[in-house]
Amino acid sequence: FIPLGVLGALAMIGGVVWLSRRRLSLRGELATAVRRREFFMHYQPIIELDTGICVGAESLVRWCRADGTLVRPDLFIPLAEEAGLIEALTDQVIDHVITDMRELLVQDRTAHIAINLAAEDVSSGRALKVLSSKLHGTGIHPQQIWLEATERGFIDVRRARTSLANARRLGHCVAIDDFGVGYSSLQYLQQLPLDALKIDKSFIDAIGTDSATSPVTSHIIDMAKTLGLFTVAEGVETPAQLAYLQARQVEFGQGWLFSKALAPAEFMAFHQQRKQQ
Ligand code: C2E
Ligand code: CA
Ligand code: CA
Ligand code: CA
Repeated sequence: FIPLGVLGALAMIGGVVWLSRRRLSLRGELATAVRRREFFMHYQPIIELDTGICVGAESLVRWCRADGTLVRPDLFIPLAEEAGLIEALTDQVIDHVITDMRELLVQDRTAHIAINLAAEDVSSGRALKVLSSKLHGTGIHPQQIWLEATERGFIDVRRARTSLANARRLGHCVAIDDFGVGYSSLQYLQQLPLDALKIDKSFIDAIGTDSATSPVTSHIIDMAKTLGLFTVAEGVETPAQLAYLQARQVEFGQGWLFSKALAPAEFMAFHQQRKQQ
């Protein structure tokens, strides 16, 4: 006879071991996946909230393993960062975005695509050099590529300042991503050259609930306005959230209320229907 508590503990240990084995084996697979280019992109529409117009999309990477199963980016991006593979992965993301979206961006100069950069991409500045050399000769204007610098993970502020300032000089729009989720957000806001702030989904979820997070959402919007940054709300799912964001004059939003992330052709059709006429 084994007491239930012990069984529970054993199951938990088993679970943890299983998880770290899975992480280890995924991490091993990731290097091969980068070599075989097993990644592709989905595009989540970004909507101008007061008009409902689709102004562009955020590019979101997907990994389809050789056996056909999909791995979520919040699982493999941290692994790629740990394994020193993120720069190679970001290069592939840039290639995909250019290939998938060149035609749309050249036809509609008001459209933009946002690319997510990992902390190391931002600190090192290498991804930004790669981006500008790859954009050369494509006809895509740097103004049409927005950069989302995540503050999950450590950003070397001094180095990041230089590379983000260069990116803005070239015409890119720079947003701080996952704001409020990391630990030194305020420092980043003060010290990094930014155009926009993305309000993390967790703060949008809190709208209309009585959780303690809800007033924080309001303060984040105020702070962005004080600093002269425009705001993009992430994970908008309900009409009530939309109404709140419109009332608070948040400029842009994305989320399942408008659309999930779409394959390139699906996004182009969506954009065609809802673009500025
Ligand atoms: P993120 O940058 O905060 O991206 C937003 C995530 O929220 C995406 O998940 C998106 O699909 C999801 N989302 C958007 N609207 C809704 C909604 O209304 N409801 C719900 N439940 N979810 C919504 P995804 O695609 O799984 O990406 C997860 C994270 O992985 C991203 O978070 C980003 O940190 C990272 N990531 C994704 N693509 C890339 C990439 O190309 N490069 C890098 N470095 N990181 C990436
Ligand atoms: Ca993002
Ligand atoms: Ca992010
Ligand atoms: Ca987020």
